Amino acid sequence: MAAKSSKYWEDRIAAGTWKTYNSLEEKNRELLEFYVDASEQVKKELYLIAEKYSKDGVLSLSDMHKQNRLTNLNRKFQDIIEDLGHKAEKSAKKNMQDGFRAVYENTAVSMGNEDFSMPNKKLMEKLLNEPWRGDSFSGRLWKNQKKLAVGLNELFLTGLQQGKTATEIAVSLHNFMGQGFNECHRLVRTETMHYLNDATMQRYKDAGTKYVQIWAAEDERTCVECSKYHGKIYSIDKCPHVPFHPNCRCTIVPVTDEKMIVEYEKKNNIKKDIEKKGDSDIINPSIAKAGTGVTVIRSLGNIKEDIITKEFGQIQTDEIIVTEERENHIKKRHPEDFELFKKYGDKAVTDPDYIIRDGKHEGTVFMVMKLPNTNLNVVVRIALESDGSGLKNSVMTFYRIRERNLKKLIEKNTDLLGKDAVLYKKE
Ligand SMILES: [Zn+2]
Ligand SMILES: [Zn+2]
Repeated sequence: MAAKSSKYWEDRIAAGTWKTYNSLEEKNRELLEFYVDASEQVKKELYLIAEKYSKDGVLSLSDMHKQNRLTNLNRKFQDIIEDLGHKAEKSAKKNMQDGFRAVYENTAVSMGNEDFSMPNKKLMEKLLNEPWRGDSFSGRLWKNQKKLAVGLNELFLTGLQQGKTATEIAVSLHNFMGQGFNECHRLVRTETMHYLNDATMQRYKDAGTKYVQIWAAEDERTCVECSKYHGKIYSIDKCPHVPFHPNCRCTIVPVTDEKMIVEYEKKNNIKKDIEKKGDSDIINPSIAKAGTGVTVIRSLGNIKEDIITKEFGQIQTDEIIVTEERENHIKKRHPEDFELFKKYGDKAVTDPDYIIRDGKHEGTVFMVMKLPNTNLNVVVRIALESDGSGLKNSVMTFYRIRERNLKKLIEKNTDLLGKDAVLYKKE
């Protein structure tokens, strides 16, 4: 299969996201109706007061202070704005969630995963309510609403103090509501773009995508902020939040081209980082053949056969060995670990404190021996009956593992296996 370029993903995934975004923009017209309604209500309340108490169309401050008239009007404005906030929030959230589903589906299908399952409601809610750059959608929306309510009351009071007519005050309140709408609309647009990007990101995570790339809409590639990011590659858990600013339509495409990945990893020394952990020692396990004469092997003793066969079925032998090649490899790469292995290796594999099954590699177990300040973890490949004949159980690698990481190792593999990964624990 030919490598799929960024352009390929732009035409499918990014274009799909932008299409959904545009269709939601249509639906966001509803917001304007809510604001027009609310503005009408504000005007109505103002005129009701003016009808009763104004002289020549002018309300006096002292009259407004009588019988809590001012306080009551303030409260009415507040209620109108609160009601408006609930309507705007509900409508925007519904539209955004519809958009999330559409984008998630388009991303999955574009990547060739027809039989995907949609993230559950709880996860979708969680993503929608998660703060990014300091606040969540709802947090920002209600801050805006509060500002709007406070602003209306301040404008009203200033109008009174300046002796403006009720009609003049009504105009300034109406204009202020218009500003409120613009802010709300901009907020919803930005949050929508962010949530749609959450949908693609969630799909990439669910599909096991490792690297992603920020992709600006064509007309945005000249934007000072976005042009810095356009085309930039990130490992999936390090990708910054997009959009970068209001009305930004930057989105995220997957990086699947092996050449691009290799280049990126090389540039960022990523392979090196993985190798330091020592795990990569077992990526390509080969089981030592007994008696070939080529491989120098050292016997470490006998494995706990009952525990192993109970989990894996028949094994070729209970003998466990380490090859000279493996020992040399570790000696060079992890000299301190090697000292520990020399001292405790035999005991660790014949009488371990834990035997844990590896959920990722076939027929592989971790044999862990507890030491005063750390633990020694010996990774052993079991010679299963299905492996062909003449093979022995052999040590792939070993390294020190701290208590916390041991716990993590158990959790991770229990998760992978869908059952307890601990096959044996010394009482
Ligand atoms: Zn921009
Ligand atoms: Zn942008």
